[in-house]
Amino acid sequence: MGRSLGILIVAMLVVSTAHANWAVLNRFQETITRAEFDALLTTVYCPSGALTNYLTYTTNAVTVFSTPAKTNTLFTLRFGTTGRPQPATLLRKIVLDPGHIGGEWARMEERYFVRGKDRPVQEAVLNLTVARLLRSRLQAAGVTVFMTKDDLRPVTTKRPDDFRDQVDATMIPVRVNDSYSPLEKEAALGDTRRRLLEQLFYRGAEIIARAKLINDWYEPDLTICLHFNAVEWNERYELVDDNRLVVFVHGNYLPGELTDDVQKLRLFAKLLERSHAVELAAAESVATALAQATKLPAVQYAPGAGATRVGTNAYIYARNLAANRLINGPVIFLEPYYMNNKTVYQRIQLGDYDGEKIVAGQSYRSIFREYADAVVAGLRPFLAAPR
Ligand SMILES: [Zn+2]
Repeated sequence: MGRSLGILIVAMLVVSTAHANWAVLNRFQETITRAEFDALLTTVYCPSGALTNYLTYTTNAVTVFSTPAKTNTLFTLRFGTTGRPQPATLLRKIVLDPGHIGGEWARMEERYFVRGKDRPVQEAVLNLTVARLLRSRLQAAGVTVFMTKDDLRPVTTKRPDDFRDQVDATMIPVRVNDSYSPLEKEAALGDTRRRLLEQLFYRGAEIIARAKLINDWYEPDLTICLHFNAVEWNERYELVDDNRLVVFVHGNYLPGELTDDVQKLRLFAKLLERSHAVELAAAESVATALAQATKLPAVQYAPGAGATRVGTNAYIYARNLAANRLINGPVIFLEPYYMNNKTVYQRIQLGDYDGEKIVAGQSYRSIFREYADAVVAGLRPFLAAPR
């Protein structure tokens, strides 16, 4: 069968329906100079320059509009004349966000694979194992630690079927082959509808629920999103030689994303809260410690891939992810190890253990402890001296 695909129904599902409340930015009036605003915009939040299509500068202010035609004023920010002192980088309160839900949701999330009779690999389990180790290490260092979750259940109370009305009210884009029968087209539509219900649950609602928990209750000095990475695997889950590390900070809003006023508002909120300096400093220190512990090379993103380099550390990219966009304050997003790398896979098969074990003729500590210890080492310069 040919692989050329046609589009049966074309209309995108609008996930972001939240009303943009720009009044929340009023507390930032006259807190930033024009030079500081421009520097953060061009180096971190919008290196492509796309946001400037929506902006009009006057002597002491900038106005943001909904459209490039500069109709529909959204907000006017008045610049300050002197800079605000940088927030302190002492981290007393840290939130750990172990990525993904896991358990009965792991296959739906596509963060699950099993080879033969081996131990199944669920990314959520790996992330939570690291989070628990990291929590005890940080608590021992005097840090107040919260976790967004400590089990394999969703944080959101929503479930995929709660989005049925929203999905049914939407024209769904379905890719079909011209040769499909009406029955095959109906089947393709049903399958796509199911995927949308699932994604609105585990990507949309789950990330929103975690961000709300952090923003409304924890208000930490830093949030750390814990993940294991992977390269795209084939159907037989063949293992690969490649293995890399990347650490994301927030930024790099893309032109397509900025057509959405809610995204424009989050760009302004993240820039004006001035979290970047702490975020980058923590990211650089943790990336250096992780690189030292894991000996992994950096992920390389092609230009225009949605991630762009910031700062001087080769492991750090700015990326506009739902998690780091919706969470207030500094957020670092860690992606060490490819789970389907040959050595990483064998280390995961060994579970968590004390001391060292031999993998492919080399001695290794538990991969979970290596990860957690490196994060603590990277954070150490930002923690209060023990009393
Ligand atoms: Zn992940």
